[in-house]
Amino acid sequence: MALKKHWCPNCDQGWVVPVRIKSTGQIVYVCEESEETWLSEEDIRPSPWSEVPKQGHYCYLNNLMEAAGLGATEYAGLVWLEVE
Ligand SMILES: [Zn+2]
Repeated sequence: MALKKHWCPNCDQGWVVPVRIKSTGQIVYVCEESEETWLSEEDIRPSPWSEVPKQGHYCYLNNLMEAAGLGATEYAGLVWLEVE
């Protein structure tokens, strides 16, 4: 099943696309425009912000990267996945 992109419910200006963290294999969903990050596809809806990655919330990509042991700008540790 191909992964899908979702229109960002937070900034309403970009697509939320799946991104894999290379070191863990975890797939998260990141807004290409403003980098809001959700832990799962079901969570992509207007939700409260959290400084740390948390189910039912969004955080920002650099917070997630730090939680995953990456530097805040270590984008080489991420793979932006193909979507339909
Ligand atoms: Zn957004």
